[in-house]
Amino acid sequence: MTTKIKITLLLVISTLGFHAQNTVIKAGHFFDSRNGKMLDNQMIIVQKGKIKEVGTNLKINEKDTIIDLSNSWVLPGLMDCHVHITANLPYRNVETKLMYVEESTSLRAIRGVVVAKQFLDNGFTTIKEIGNDANYATADIIKSIKKGWIQGPTIIYAGKIIAPYGGQTRGINTEHEHFWDFEYLDADTPDEIKKAVRKNIYNGATVIKMVTGDNGIYNTEDIKAAVDEAKKYGLKVTVHTNNDTKSATNVILGGAAAIEHGFELDDTQLKLMKDKGTFLVGTDFSYDNWYAYGMDSEMATTYSGMVTDRLKRAYKIGTKMAFGTDIIVDIQGLNRVQSNLKVLNTWKAAAIPSSYILQTMTINAAELLGIEKERGVLEQSYYADIIALKNNPIDDIEAIKTVQFVMKEGKVIRRD
Ligand SMILES: [Zn+2]
Repeated sequence: MTTKIKITLLLVISTLGFHAQNTVIKAGHFFDSRNGKMLDNQMIIVQKGKIKEVGTNLKINEKDTIIDLSNSWVLPGLMDCHVHITANLPYRNVETKLMYVEESTSLRAIRGVVVAKQFLDNGFTTIKEIGNDANYATADIIKSIKKGWIQGPTIIYAGKIIAPYGGQTRGINTEHEHFWDFEYLDADTPDEIKKAVRKNIYNGATVIKMVTGDNGIYNTEDIKAAVDEAKKYGLKVTVHTNNDTKSATNVILGGAAAIEHGFELDDTQLKLMKDKGTFLVGTDFSYDNWYAYGMDSEMATTYSGMVTDRLKRAYKIGTKMAFGTDIIVDIQGLNRVQSNLKVLNTWKAAAIPSSYILQTMTINAAELLGIEKERGVLEQSYYADIIALKNNPIDDIEAIKTVQFVMKEGKVIRRD
């Protein structure tokens, strides 16, 4: 090729690039998730799925598509760090055994497709699917989204839950001890834990989820075995703890990235989490959620009070937090995401500022999920995962229920 032709080709290519059609979003109000502040009258230029530029008075080309959101509150796509898209249990009748026996992996996957779309349509452009998805049902949902067969959020995926013998089951007779293999990997020693981590990665996991304290307690070395093994492949470990204070300390000292639930955490542990940089994904069930799970009013009041108190203490101490819901029982008349968002009652009862709640759903969540250089803020070179709300979420966090626009990687998913 002669130099002249080369230069001409380069010119053609660069000219095409220059005129590539951009989408320009005019944001009346714009959430700067890095600083937790709402800015006014910003413009976002989107090109090829990513943010090209953000600022005021940017230059617009004639061919650009303009999306006028000057009356809306524009935010980075929201993230939920604890979901089970393929699972569902009947209202006030939470018997997981029946779901495991009666529902096949394919049925679970079909439900997962529906719920994943609900998340996306309601402004959650990234979710962490944390296990209990039969035989790796979500791995295929992720493939389907990547192939463009279906629309869904970015999914950070745990595969099967790694737990001491028995998973989270109770009272299964020995003839049926493999019953829980459908949902859990038994792992009782550091070597078994490492093997389980590798098995999950083989099947598509991008995060490792463990459970401790339900059927046996992992010690610090057990947690560390998972953390070290996962780290080799660039993955993080997150651990469910519940009703057992000893396990939680082991989890923090073992180097896990997050504690899921942690309803029992005391101030010393919350402080230790702060020092170690361990996230709390609090799955902060409100009264309505506990009641939907079958508790009577008195018990639901006690439990929601306990969760509110733990949330308040974690915020005061300064433990890092990422938003997570964990709801698998839909409240009557509400879909999954609407049921999830009942947890906002707890955040409000704990008097957590709205701007901080939004950060737990965006920049903090992205950091925990290891995608902080790609998503969670609206800045140059980040993916264009952008949503808009009708109402101001700083005035009242309930405004995140007023989603009227969703863009996923530059593609408009919803515009009311
Ligand atoms: Zn869960």
